[in-house]
Amino acid sequence: MLRPDSVTDSFLNRLVSRVPSTAGGSWKLTEVYSGEVLVELPQSTPADISAAFAASRRAQEEWSQWPLKKRLKVFKKFHSLVLSENETIVDLIQVESGKARRMAFEETLDIPMVAGYYIKRAARLLAPKKHAGPVPVVSSSLEIRQPKGVVGIIAPWNFPFATGISDAIPALIAGNGVVVKPDNKTALSPLYGVELLERAGLPKGLFQVVCGEGPDVGPTLIDNANYVMFTGSTATGRVIGERAGRNLIGACLELGGKNPMIVLPDANLDETVKAALFGAFGNTGQICMHIERMYIHDSIYDEFRSRFVEATKNLRVGASYDFEPEVGSLVSVEQKDRVASHVEDAVAKGATVLVGGRALPEVGPAFFAPTILEGVTKDMLAGVGETFGPVVALHRYSSEDEAVALANDTDYGLNASVWGGDIDNAIRVGRRIHSGNVNINDILATAYASKGTPSGGVKQSGVGGRHGDQGLLKYTDCQNVGILRKQVMGAPEGASFEDNVKQQITGLRVMRKLNIR
Ligand code: NAD
Repeated sequence: MLRPDSVTDSFLNRLVSRVPSTAGGSWKLTEVYSGEVLVELPQSTPADISAAFAASRRAQEEWSQWPLKKRLKVFKKFHSLVLSENETIVDLIQVESGKARRMAFEETLDIPMVAGYYIKRAARLLAPKKHAGPVPVVSSSLEIRQPKGVVGIIAPWNFPFATGISDAIPALIAGNGVVVKPDNKTALSPLYGVELLERAGLPKGLFQVVCGEGPDVGPTLIDNANYVMFTGSTATGRVIGERAGRNLIGACLELGGKNPMIVLPDANLDETVKAALFGAFGNTGQICMHIERMYIHDSIYDEFRSRFVEATKNLRVGASYDFEPEVGSLVSVEQKDRVASHVEDAVAKGATVLVGGRALPEVGPAFFAPTILEGVTKDMLAGVGETFGPVVALHRYSSEDEAVALANDTDYGLNASVWGGDIDNAIRVGRRIHSGNVNINDILATAYASKGTPSGGVKQSGVGGRHGDQGLLKYTDCQNVGILRKQVMGAPEGASFEDNVKQQITGLRVMRKLNIR
C-alpha cells in the first residue's frame, strides 16, 4: 500500500524526536492498513516524565504572565494552521488509526471548533468577577481565576488528535502548561499538533509530549500534575481517579459508554436508517458516544430492520487514503479480536447475526465487517460491556416506559439518541434517560459539537465534563479575595454582645427582605 505523500520517514523522525527518552527504549508504531512499522517511538522513563513537567512548569511561569490577548493570538494563528495543514493532519490520523479518511477529516474539525469557542469566551471567563460581601457597601469579594499549574492529559487512540489537543486548548488559554500522554499507537497526530502550536507562537517547552504504556507512565504523570484530564475506558478511569484523589488534585474523567438509540413510532425512517449507519459504524464503531443498542417500536421494527440491514450490506468498507471508503479499519488486530470475541460469545449464547459477523482479512489485518445482531441479552459480553467496534444489537419495544427502562438498564450514561417526528415528545423521552448527552434526531454530533454546553458522562461514564464554561474553569483555581473597606463587623466599642446579636439578626432579616445577598 502506498502511504500518503506527506508521511515521509524524515517527517516521522522529526515528530518523534520531541518525545523525551533517556533510557526507555522504543515502541514500534505501525501503519494499521499494512501492519508495517512506520517509526520507532521513543518511550519515556519516570525521570523523563518528571523532567518534562519541570520544563513545562518553568515555561508556564512566564506564559501565565502573558496578557490573555497575547495568549489568544497564538490560538488564532493555530486555528488557521490546523485548517491550512489539514491534509497532513488527516494523513497522520489515518496511518496511525486506520480509520476511514472521512472520519479522520471530521476529527480534525474539533480543534478549530474548540479553539474558536474559547477564543471568543475566555476573556469573560477569566476576568475577575466582583461579588457582594457579607456587609453591603463596605465589603466585597473578587473571584480571581488562577491557572492550576501544569495539567497532565492522558488520551486514547480512537480520537488521538482531538483528545490530545482539544482538551489542552482551554488549559493553555487559562495559563497552564500541559504534559500529554497519547496512546503509543496514535502518538503522531498529537505530536504534530504540538509542533503546529509552537509554529503558532506557543513558547517552547510549555506543551510536552511523553510516551509509554499507560501503567508505566500514568503514576509519574499523575504525581507531577496539578490536574488530570483523562479520556479512556472506565476501568482505567478508576485507576486514574484513585491516584488523583490520593494526591488531592482534581480530575476530569471521560469514560466509556453503552449508548442506546430509541426510535419512536413517528420517526422519519429515511433519516433514522441513514443516521443509524453512522451511529453504529462511524469510526468503525470506535466512538465513545456511538450506538451499540437500538430500541425500535414494534410498529416499525420490521421495516426498520430490513432497511437498516440492506443499507449496511451496501456500506463501502476499505483500506485507502482517499474519501471513498465509508468504513475503515479497527485500530489494531487486538481490537479486532476483542470485537470478534463479543460477536462469537453472543452467537454461542443464542444471538442471531443479521449481517456481517466476521473479520475481513482480505481487506486488512484489523478489519471487521459492520455487524447487526438480534437477540442480544445481558448474559452476553455484547449485552452489557462496551464492544467498541462495528457491532450493534437491535431490540423491539412496545411502550415508552419499556424503551426508557431498557435504555437505562446499564451502568453507563454517556450518550443517548432519540428519534421522533414530534420533537417536544422526543425531548421529553430523552430527558428520562440517565445520560450526560442526549441527541434528538441526531446520533452524537449535535450535543458534542455544541461547544457552549458542557459534555460529559454520568454513572460509570465519567466525572466532570469538557466544553462550556466548566471546560475551561476546571483548569483554574478560584482565588477568593475578600475586601473590607471599613471595620464594621463585630460588636462596636462598649456595646453588649446581646445588642450585637439582635442587630445582626435584624440586619439579616432586612437583607432577605430587600433581596440583598
Ligand atoms: P484505555 O483506558 O485503555 O487507555 C486510554 C489511555 O490511558 C491510553 O493513553 C493508555 O495508554 C492510558 N492508560 C492505560 N492504562 C493506564 C494506567 N494504568 N495509568 C495511566 N494511563 C493508562 O482506553 P482505550 O482503549 O485507549 O480507549 C477506548 C476507551 O476510551 C473506550 O472505553 C471509549 O469509550 C473511551 N473514550 C471515551 C471518551 C469520552 O469522551 N467519554 C472519548 C474517547 C474514548
